[in-house]
Amino acid sequence: MTRAFARGLLVVLLFLLAGCGAGTTASLPSTASAPTNAPAAPVASEAAAKPVKLVKVVTTMSILADMIKNVGGEHVAVENIIPLGAGPEDYQPTPQDAQKIAGADIVFFNGHGLEAWLDDLFKSAATPGQPQIAVSEALQAVDVGSTDFREGNPHFWMSAANGATYVEQIRDGLILVDPANKAVYTTNADAYIKQLLALNAELKQQAERIPQAQRKLVTNHDAFPYFAQEYGFVIVGNILGSPESAPSAGDLAALVQNIKAQKVKAIFSESQFSPKLSKTIADEAGVQIVADLYTDTLGDASSGGATYIDMLRFDMQTIVDALQ
Ligand SMILES: [Zn+2]
Repeated sequence: MTRAFARGLLVVLLFLLAGCGAGTTASLPSTASAPTNAPAAPVASEAAAKPVKLVKVVTTMSILADMIKNVGGEHVAVENIIPLGAGPEDYQPTPQDAQKIAGADIVFFNGHGLEAWLDDLFKSAATPGQPQIAVSEALQAVDVGSTDFREGNPHFWMSAANGATYVEQIRDGLILVDPANKAVYTTNADAYIKQLLALNAELKQQAERIPQAQRKLVTNHDAFPYFAQEYGFVIVGNILGSPESAPSAGDLAALVQNIKAQKVKAIFSESQFSPKLSKTIADEAGVQIVADLYTDTLGDASSGGATYIDMLRFDMQTIVDALQ
């Protein structure tokens, strides 16, 4: 009995030991396989340790957003404030815009008083030391005699040569906040500036297809002084007149007279304005209305004006076709 019990106990003990052994053996493969899995582990931890750190850029205008993408490439995440199809002068900022500013590593805006509403956003939302770059800073404005545009006409980008100087400011700003990628920003900016200067020469050539006497522009608002200067046009007038007040009936009658007297061939509407008033003026002056130039905003993907380069090309082509 006792021996039988002892044998039984031994069997149980052996069984338990075998179980233990099995447990120990079972744990071995995971230990043993650790070195096999080892190469995978560093890859994962490397990805975690070196996440792709994008520079968070906020800008006011779609045109500037496109320029920044050209310079920053895959190193930047660009958020734009003014939606496509809207103009900067009368833009009303939203609480979301303040959040964008608060999260930005750097802010680029046009400057020369174009985005007057930006001051309040900066006061309420900017982070200490956040670089805020006015890309038109290096350029000399033409005086438009307006109390709204106290700092002169801000529409510098309507000349591709001016656009190239914007790109220099963008490059320097990105290098300031992300010096590790200086070489990339410099290379990208050089290539883009080259494209813009080639575009500028191309636009000048195109403008020359219009007889000098017919190079006359009437548009919605005063966005064309630098375009006119660079490509040899005369601005006969614009429908909104001075930016701070609506045009009077007298202003509009004078514009119609001027259009007739100077034998202007067409009136150009701009994409961010309703064509209604332009249509009335064109009808009264007996000239055609041509839609829609891109001035303060890019167009959508199918518009033919979805990038800064395409927008200027589209505008010149439209103007040449109408005034030739
Ligand atoms: Zn404008």
